[in-house]
Amino acid sequence: MEIVNYFDKTFELFLSSYQLDEIVKTLAEDINKQYENVQEDIILVGILNGSFVFISDLVRKLSFEFEVEFAKLKSYDGTESTGDIDIVLDVPVSIEGKHIIIIEDIVDTGLTIEEFINNVKRKNPLSVKTCTLLSKPEVHNDIIDIDFVGLEISPEFVIGYGLDINGLGRQLSGVYRLVT
Ligand code: 5GP
Ligand code: MG
Repeated sequence: MEIVNYFDKTFELFLSSYQLDEIVKTLAEDINKQYENVQEDIILVGILNGSFVFISDLVRKLSFEFEVEFAKLKSYDGTESTGDIDIVLDVPVSIEGKHIIIIEDIVDTGLTIEEFINNVKRKNPLSVKTCTLLSKPEVHNDIIDIDFVGLEISPEFVIGYGLDINGLGRQLSGVYRLVT
């Protein structure tokens, strides 16, 4: 499928499932190198809803032991970042003394991940690192330091592979970008 339509908008294929698999593989190799010799507990915290597809592919490529938890944040309305971040559901377990890897689908303004990193750091974890599938460095001007970035993209709106437009399009196996 090269073209998909949602509401009155048209999206074209940007990253195929094959390309996504390569990106996730490279990310996993990087993460494996950094955590293979860690002795303490590690928790991957996926940020819902967008990261659920990415995290399910990523965890199966990691070669160390860890727990998986989720937090739910909300900032987007349609195709615009609102800048207003709500922690709708916080991590339901203690993260004190554990290594935390936050997993995001995409970093746009960086406000969501920044708010969540601060929230996690207040709970005394041993370390906090961040991983995102996609990043829009031109929007956040690299103010936010992400440890593991799958792919940097230009400031355009994308859907698929977990990413939605008003709740729809998450099931698409590729990533599609808005045709303007
Ligand atoms: P930020 O706070 O960095 O501006 O936005 C982060 C959140 O907004 C992401 O977790 C994601 O859910 C959503 N978001 C940002 N850019 C896009 C995009 O291009 N497409 C979709 N579907 N969601 C996005
Ligand atoms: Mg998200």
